[in-house]
Amino acid sequence: MENKMNRRRFLETTSLLGGSLLFAPSFSIAGSLKSDVKPARLGGAKAHPKGFQSWPIYGRSEELALVNTLKTGKWGRLDGNTTATFETEYARMLGVKHSLGVSSGTAALYSMLGALNLGPGDEVIIPVYTFVATYNVVTLNYALPVFVDSDIETFQIDARKIEPAITSQTKVIMPVHIGGLPADLDTILNIGKKHNITIIEDACQAHLAEWRGKKVGSYGLGGAFSFQSSKNLNCAEGGAITSNNEEFIQRCYAFHNQGQGGARTSFAVGGEGTRGVNMRLTEFQSGLLLAQMSRLEEQARIRDKNASYLNKALSEIPGITPAKLYDGVTMGAYHLYMFRYDPSHFAGMSREKFLEALSEEGVPCSAGYGSMNKSEYVQKLAANKHYLKIYGEKAMKEWLERNECPQNDKLAEQGVWLLQYMLLGSREDMDQIVEAIRKIQKYAKQLNK
Ligand SMILES: *Cc1c(COP(=O)(O)O)cnc(C)c1O
Repeated sequence: MENKMNRRRFLETTSLLGGSLLFAPSFSIAGSLKSDVKPARLGGAKAHPKGFQSWPIYGRSEELALVNTLKTGKWGRLDGNTTATFETEYARMLGVKHSLGVSSGTAALYSMLGALNLGPGDEVIIPVYTFVATYNVVTLNYALPVFVDSDIETFQIDARKIEPAITSQTKVIMPVHIGGLPADLDTILNIGKKHNITIIEDACQAHLAEWRGKKVGSYGLGGAFSFQSSKNLNCAEGGAITSNNEEFIQRCYAFHNQGQGGARTSFAVGGEGTRGVNMRLTEFQSGLLLAQMSRLEEQARIRDKNASYLNKALSEIPGITPAKLYDGVTMGAYHLYMFRYDPSHFAGMSREKFLEALSEEGVPCSAGYGSMNKSEYVQKLAANKHYLKIYGEKAMKEWLERNECPQNDKLAEQGVWLLQYMLLGSREDMDQIVEAIRKIQKYAKQLNK
């Protein structure tokens, strides 16, 4: 809740002026300030005065998609065929055999867990540094979410700590490609194989990210994508499941369609579990997605290029450590641009003060995720009467103890995020982000007074 609120407030307070997608020539001299302008907080001019690329980006193709769907009178997936077309195109774009459009990223995860008949007594391994939806889909099934600590260097689940978290009850390992950067899939897939545990990828932030040249969402039994308005592919609210397993995608279809297969599948009743909901995507959303997809690959290239540039430039600033990529990462989706901030290189200035000063330079930023394992969600789940009935008081107490994540506690204090649309700017925009941070560092003592 808190993170979602932060994200919303972040978006509201961001000035969304138009910007160019073209790369401007760069005049910055690496390692030094371009000028001796003071930070905005101390009366200087903003390092980034003109605002970033606005989001969403749309035009005539989106307008046509919506109006055309309206005029057909076929507005739902059971009426028209735009959703089926979207699914074919999305599967092609990701290099998977099957895709299923659903009403949200949460719905994608929930449908997959429903198709697997997850339930009370089962355990699901998830990273602690993630959006709360990853956790919620587990507790909706009265299953136990088991947190694995973060790799502070990459912000991802620490794959080396997954194996010790496995028990005889572990049914699913659900890595998240946080920020749109792939988690360590080699290690995770090997663990899944060794222990015969299903891997479901939460790729909700990772459209077109690649691991060893193949798109994420194609490695696990299934992948979940979100098309919520902040995400790199946007239709207001929406999601998709990707899979190379036809039986699995059919079970997902049935689950998301009230447990009914219809034309798509012979599974008459909601997968294994005889359960189902309505989480269907509408034709309007699918039309919008097809239009937005025509922009996605170029946008992804620009984000990746700008992020690589920032990675290099910001690494040269003492006290700023961009999220590292695993060796297997061949493309980052950069839903978030994440780095760690060390106050000791900024005259002891707290992260909160740093975030304020950076925002005042015209660079919107936030602190990112906290320690979900210590949140109210977790505290209240340990006291939830249904959980106490299913697992017992002792097991719920032990669960709280199992959830210690000391590395993530550090990460939660050090993280700084920039958002994906900022990476759609020019090289000059990137230089000004770097300039803003250098200014703050140079004047840290005065700023920290
Ligand atoms: C956005 C997101 C979700 C949920 O997607 P919605 O479309 O908002 O339901 C799940 N997991 C992660 C990591 C996300 O970022």
